[in-house]
Amino acid sequence: MRLEDALTLVREVPDFPEPGVLFRDLSPLLADADAFRAVTDAFAAEIPDGVSTVVALEARGFLFGAALAAVHGFGLVTVRKPGKLPVVADSATYSLEYGTATFELPEGVIEPGANVVIIDDVLATGGTIEAAAGLVDRAGAKVAAVTVVVEIAALGGRERLAGHNLRSLLVV
Ligand code: IMP
Repeated sequence: MRLEDALTLVREVPDFPEPGVLFRDLSPLLADADAFRAVTDAFAAEIPDGVSTVVALEARGFLFGAALAAVHGFGLVTVRKPGKLPVVADSATYSLEYGTATFELPEGVIEPGANVVIIDDVLATGGTIEAAAGLVDRAGAKVAAVTVVVEIAALGGRERLAGHNLRSLLVV
């Protein structure tokens, strides 16, 4: 399936998770084997040379990050919400479009000096990826690229992540 056809499966849901928010729902895309594969391959095509590791963000970033890592041969690091990891290296608290949140990085899974790519489903204000990039930086690794399926341009994430090599498959 062509990437542009796969991306037509991103569904818009008004007023979720609260009134006034237009939520981009990737469930139909994930449920279509050809579309999921097309997105996984498009992610792989965006990875710069020298990247060894995919850093995937809980929760929907895990889906795309794990597929990318397994199919195209990268290590996988999961950045998680609090209370899930038995051994935590570092944590970062950040603000969201709707609320605040904290991320934790597992101990001993990022090699200092490694080139990593951060993967998530949707870029909105950029706070989530900014927090994850801070964890990667503090672990001594390099964020070689940030890749998302959908970038919501009006929320300014690209400006917030200025200086990062940001790639999005679909800008809305
Ligand atoms: P940000 O920190 O404001 O960029 O928000 C991005 C995070 O919130 C990502 O982890 C997304 O999974 C989630 N998110 C924000 N808006 C949407 C949306 O419209 N659809 C799906 N996830 C979203």
